Amino acid sequence: MRYQNSYIHLDTRLYHEQPPTPLDNPRAGHFNTQVAEQLGWTDDDALMSRWVEILAGQYVPAEFKPLAMAYAGHQFGQWAGQLGDGRGLLMAQVLDNDGQPQDLHLKGIGLTPYSRMGDGRAVLRSTIREYLCGHALTQLGIPSSNALGFVVSDTRVRRERMEAGAALMRVADSHIRLGHVEWIASFAPDLLGEFTDYMIDTYYPECRDNETPVLAFLTAVVERTAKMIADWQLIGFAHGVMNTDNLSITGSTLDFGPFGFMERFNPAWINNHSDHTGRYAYQNQPAIGHWNLNIWLPHFMRLEGVTRETLADCLAPYEATFMQHYQQGLCRKLGLPHEKESLTLAFEWLTLLEDNLLDYTNSFRALLGLVAPDEHPYEQHLLATLTTELNQEAQKFWQDWSINYLAQIELVSFEQAINDMRTNNPVYILRNSMAQRAITAAEQGQFEEVNRVFDLLATPYTVQSIATELDIIPPAPDAPQMPISCSS
Ligand code: AMP
Ligand code: MG
Ligand code: MG
Repeated sequence: MRYQNSYIHLDTRLYHEQPPTPLDNPRAGHFNTQVAEQLGWTDDDALMSRWVEILAGQYVPAEFKPLAMAYAGHQFGQWAGQLGDGRGLLMAQVLDNDGQPQDLHLKGIGLTPYSRMGDGRAVLRSTIREYLCGHALTQLGIPSSNALGFVVSDTRVRRERMEAGAALMRVADSHIRLGHVEWIASFAPDLLGEFTDYMIDTYYPECRDNETPVLAFLTAVVERTAKMIADWQLIGFAHGVMNTDNLSITGSTLDFGPFGFMERFNPAWINNHSDHTGRYAYQNQPAIGHWNLNIWLPHFMRLEGVTRETLADCLAPYEATFMQHYQQGLCRKLGLPHEKESLTLAFEWLTLLEDNLLDYTNSFRALLGLVAPDEHPYEQHLLATLTTELNQEAQKFWQDWSINYLAQIELVSFEQAINDMRTNNPVYILRNSMAQRAITAAEQGQFEEVNRVFDLLATPYTVQSIATELDIIPPAPDAPQMPISCSS
């Protein structure tokens, strides 16, 4: 049985059974055949041939049990009370080809009891951004929600202007957020034990073998969150809204609305235009992950055997786990052994990038042009571009640094270094300008650019002929930042 739909068997206070409200005249946007294959859809003609109707909410297969989940959250550091699925529905829970649970969650599909002031819809612009970003992160090897596809429609949606309504079938290992537990603690504390058992049995079954499964589970959530955020920092990803209602209990990237991928390196970079204080700036993400867990964990003190002290033990490894994963990753990006001297070089390198506002992605990749120029003509070109962007003082720094760097790289096998660098430094990320070009064309009914960007991001670590200069060029250093807001 692929369809599990276990959530609907939990206490009815936790959700509301809710059918989707269909979109008008839906059209195909894009469909991810790899995700479909993994979910077994390709073997099912009824699902495959009717995917546009399913994503538009016009046809609900008998195996689906649509519901809106209740959850709460801290938004920008403030308790926000009840939130819940205001425009998305958990349509079905399935086991994928590896026997792993996956949620099908249809976003933009109408009002629910949790819609508050919202209209239950999502616009094409943000749907495309989420679609391409989930794909990009997944293909980069970062735990993330992905999507089966999206549709566009004639349903009109009012934001700052009138826009086309769209819907995205999100696929994630779980849609349980930290905020689910916050909701329970406030509105149905008697359910915490049952719900914790559900989270463990469904997503962390290995913790059952532990003497105290709850503590093993909480420790695992802390560990996965720390590693996920380390992955973000390494690739240059800014989530944009790390509210507790947007963080999954499985340590998978979820609900990244105003996200961005780092271009010219600036640790203080704020991608989300609505984030006036910079709470969710790139460099704050590791600390915010800790903040979120720290406010979340005490709810479990209601459970037997969980104390303030044992919870402190669960959270304590967060920083070391993050650091270990981040520093190891940084060394791999440079093709260096994980040791102190390598880290010194890594931080000098990041300083060079920051002081000269160099493109994060291109600069790391360019180092292949230094280490193995003959095999890497593309990277040699990146390197040439990089050095022209350095002022005289930085030129000197760069020359000294590259001598030390090449000496340090001698310590590992050449093949190992090249392989680490190629598999940890993408050639392509989803730049805001790339997403925007795909959106502009799609808003005119042209989906070829969505297709092309999707294909490009399918193999982000490989130089491809379908790429253009626009895919790899960062904005000018003094260009105003493209405004990306929470409006979606
Ligand atoms: P987000 O900022 O997208 O993570 O959403 C925060 C909360 O607002 C969640 O409960 C969403 O379901 C809800 N929400 C966001 N946009 C809408 C909308 N257009 N209609 C209804 N609810 C929404
Ligand atoms: Mg109910
Ligand atoms: Mg959200």
